[in-house]
Amino acid sequence: MAERAQPKPATLPLPGGRPGATVRLHPLVSGRGAVPPAYLHRDEGRLARLKAFGLGARRDDWVPIPFVSFLVEHPGAGPLLVDTGLHPSIGLDPALNLGRLYGWIMRDALASPEESVTAQLLDRGLDPREIATVVMTHLHFDHTSAMTELPEAAFLVDELEWEAATAPFALLHGYVKRHFSPELDVRLLDFDAAEVDSFTTFGRSLDIFGDGSVRLVATPGHTDGHVSVVLRLRDREALLCGDAAYTMRTLERSDMPGRTADDHLFRRSLREMQRHLEQTPGTLMVPGHDLECWEALESVYE
Ligand SMILES: [Zn+2]
Repeated sequence: MAERAQPKPATLPLPGGRPGATVRLHPLVSGRGAVPPAYLHRDEGRLARLKAFGLGARRDDWVPIPFVSFLVEHPGAGPLLVDTGLHPSIGLDPALNLGRLYGWIMRDALASPEESVTAQLLDRGLDPREIATVVMTHLHFDHTSAMTELPEAAFLVDELEWEAATAPFALLHGYVKRHFSPELDVRLLDFDAAEVDSFTTFGRSLDIFGDGSVRLVATPGHTDGHVSVVLRLRDREALLCGDAAYTMRTLERSDMPGRTADDHLFRRSLREMQRHLEQTPGTLMVPGHDLECWEALESVYE
């Protein structure tokens, strides 16, 4: 048996699109942790890289962050997810799901089985097996942790991200290959394909249902194949930034995070998001790991 999922190309548009469709958005927090301040916002200077990992920061000064995903309800295609959050076992023994390195890094994470995405789906009357599609913003371990909990889903991943996540030494770049279990259906997105189009300020976008309700926009930089998600709600739009911006401060002041896969691409993607907001005022902007922002979110947006 293959040691990990064997991806196939994604075929777009996915079924279920409806002209003029709008979606409902449920932001889901599946756990909390803490990171050194310089991980969220870069300290300049010689030791910047080490500071991002906590050099010189007292543990009391670490900043709490949420681990997140989203439930999106589409009127024709049904429920889909963006990212998977933390696996139900993380609060009990993080090494079981994350392996020794990230199990140790996540040893103080707060997570409970009741907070897992599958539990939160059940709370909303949804069977996790009804989730046919999961959009992966990227494949860092805190986003892929619960992939195996969604056995019926097709996981949409930028092909550059899959390449990075399965490369030798990917572990050192935040990827845990055991999450890409052989039975999973991984579908690769090609942002150079003919159906790719620009959308507002974004150079490359894919309209996954062909009805404009859920658009994936290429926002590389945090990782090689990062995507963000633009949703059409009833009266406004939402931009799920993923880790293309950890925080509101990065969105508002362009402060760089501790590490990126590529600083130049990160800045370019950030500018695309910032200009999108200028052109589409009123957009609900959701950064990836900003606890204050997440605590202010409503439980559902229509
Ligand atoms: Zn993340």
